[in-house]
Amino acid sequence: MPALPDPALRAARQAPADAGLVALADRCVQCGLCLPHCPTYRLDQTEAESPRGRIAYIKAVAQGRLAPTAAGDTHLDHCLGCRRCEPVCPAQVPYGELLVGARAAQAARHAPPLKLRAAGWLLARPPLLGRMIDLQRVAGAWLPAALRPGLPQAPPAVAMPAPPAAAKGEVAVFVGCIADRYESGTRAALARLLGAAGIAVALPEGQGCCGAAAAHAGDSAAAARLAAANRQAFAGRDSVLCLASGCQDSVARSLAGQAPVEDALSALDRLGDQLRFRPAHGRVALHLPCTQRSVVRSEGALRRLLQRIPGLDLVELPDTGCCGAAGLHQLAEPARADALRAPLLQALAESGAAGLLSANIGCRLHLATGTMVPVRHPIDFLAEHLA
Ligand code: SF4
Ligand code: SF4
Repeated sequence: MPALPDPALRAARQAPADAGLVALADRCVQCGLCLPHCPTYRLDQTEAESPRGRIAYIKAVAQGRLAPTAAGDTHLDHCLGCRRCEPVCPAQVPYGELLVGARAAQAARHAPPLKLRAAGWLLARPPLLGRMIDLQRVAGAWLPAALRPGLPQAPPAVAMPAPPAAAKGEVAVFVGCIADRYESGTRAALARLLGAAGIAVALPEGQGCCGAAAAHAGDSAAAARLAAANRQAFAGRDSVLCLASGCQDSVARSLAGQAPVEDALSALDRLGDQLRFRPAHGRVALHLPCTQRSVVRSEGALRRLLQRIPGLDLVELPDTGCCGAAGLHQLAEPARADALRAPLLQALAESGAAGLLSANIGCRLHLATGTMVPVRHPIDFLAEHLA
């Protein structure tokens, strides 16, 4: 650890130790088993860019043994929040929880960059965000750079299909913030798949962003406001489905004790025997987002569903680590985000696939800006092949 300048040391010692953060960090036994699974460690090959290094920094700062440093905060900023370190940890360190707490403490020390605060503000206001995305579609390159969201063109809106006659039940679907504009076709596709099994879909009014981006940016107050709005929007619902693996954990935490939240792919997998698919032609590649592998764990359900499509030539892309999207990371650290994405795009090019499937909207948007291969939610592909 670097020597502390006296004023900084005094300030650090005067700060109350964050007992919650220290207790979480204390669970780390520093075995290092998580290191090879961490995409930033694989990229930089330095301890400071590893889960163990970050935990040590968070703990030392929380205990007041170390004054926060610009370098330490940068390594913390680089964390993708992918949580690949969690399932491989023998001590079951709840790294996601630790990161959210550490980022909140970090934000209290100094405000995040303006572009991240602006992005967070917009994500919390989906109607305004949607209008900016629409503006990009209409005005395109004529927009001043500051007003261009830097996202792929949003597809035209798709209307929801009519519910099945004599539906056997109804599920509510979480829409999200940016997905409000980008995933109307996917929500309609989910409604067609569930409708084939006699289940109707509802899109409750008043819901908004899941709050993951706010929490990862250290804005715990905004995350709590978004969680409260979603609790209110989903009041009275007994089943909620989520289409984005990156949002599901936050939605589930928001609705804890109120309604179970499930990945839409897992729900469809249970209904799989009631679905009939027509044959597919051509090769399709599959990307498994970090949050699907490490948090939601719906990759088995997805593989089983895709296996139901006769003749599907499916290539599962190798696990090259995080694609680099990681919420607002692609905005905050575009060069690192592109470096993390490069091996995945290379594997996609080598696969010869004519399409790519990925179940997280953040990953899809980031991947789509780096390839000409169409990138879609697996649910779009499944619905397209309904018999
Ligand atoms: S969340 Fe991802 S990037 Fe962050 S320390 Fe864990 S494995 Fe590494
Ligand atoms: S695997 Fe768990 S206990 Fe081991 S260094 Fe990583 S976080 Fe710490």
